[in-house]
Amino acid sequence: MIVVLKKEASQAKKDQLIDWLKGMGLGIHISVGEYQTVLGLIGDTSKVDMDLIGSLDIVDSVKRVTDTFKCVNRQFHPDDTVVSVGDVKIGGGNFAMIAGPCSVESEEQIVEVAKAVKAAGANLLRGGAFKPRTSPYDFQGLKAEGLELLRIARKETGLPIVTEIMSVSDLPLFEDVDVLQVGARNMQNFDLLKELGNTGKPILLKRGLANTLKELLMSAEYIMASGNEQVILCERGIRTYSDYMRNTLDLSAVPMLHELSHLPVIVDPSHATGIARMVPPMALSAAACGADGLIIEVHNDPIHALCDGAQSLKPEEYAELVKKVNAVREAIM
Ligand code: PEP
Ligand code: MN
Repeated sequence: MIVVLKKEASQAKKDQLIDWLKGMGLGIHISVGEYQTVLGLIGDTSKVDMDLIGSLDIVDSVKRVTDTFKCVNRQFHPDDTVVSVGDVKIGGGNFAMIAGPCSVESEEQIVEVAKAVKAAGANLLRGGAFKPRTSPYDFQGLKAEGLELLRIARKETGLPIVTEIMSVSDLPLFEDVDVLQVGARNMQNFDLLKELGNTGKPILLKRGLANTLKELLMSAEYIMASGNEQVILCERGIRTYSDYMRNTLDLSAVPMLHELSHLPVIVDPSHATGIARMVPPMALSAAACGADGLIIEVHNDPIHALCDGAQSLKPEEYAELVKKVNAVREAIM
């Protein structure tokens, strides 16, 4: 249920109403917008007297929300959420350009790529230290050492770092990581999501390989229900009948997620296609359909990459793409 308060409602009366609702055992999600305050009621609202609340002089309207996702729901929070990572903002008109290699391989590699993507216009550095690989015999990432190398690259470039966490038990290692990524394969690792909800850190939540938008939103709800509002959704391609590409990029997810939720939505054209030459057209399409950012794999030597070289752009290709993405964004503004 949502309760929209009148603009002129006094703080004392708002507090009184909130305390009363909390007294009924409800959780209250408060969204203060420029024009209105929206109270989102979470819990069993079946006994809440809508007519009584609607008759209060500070209440503008009362509505039942039937969706199972509440905190992530656009109705609970009409304004776009803007996620802040240091000075970088994502959502609400702010665009994230996240770039870097699939995996951190060495200090030389990550620092070189970090410098190149920064020069090209990226504002966040990606790089996997803990890698979820389909085969146990493939490179599994440099783990703690990889995180250390990301810290060095951050120090060298000033770019905040985005890296995947696979297990709750690794959380202490991620204390100074700027954005924690939940990979597609972990989208429904509910214990991990709940723990990340307690961190207060920005979380990049990727859509699972075969998950619906509702399931993605419910996973984001896990993080938000634990108190963390800093969630970024990511469309990274889903399993379909695609034969020539790694996945199918579901771009219609972007406007639909924007309609359903206030959270920023970014797109990963690298894992969606698996082919470097497919990345620029899909990245531009993502910008055109209103994505709040792009996460793109860039490697200084793709042929010798330890992971996902085939879908990695070279730094110069990424630089070209950034210019075109900026042009598309200008065109649709
Ligand atoms: C990644 O971004 O490195 C990755 C493994 O992506 P996904 O979880 O989308 O497969
Ligand atoms: Mn990858």
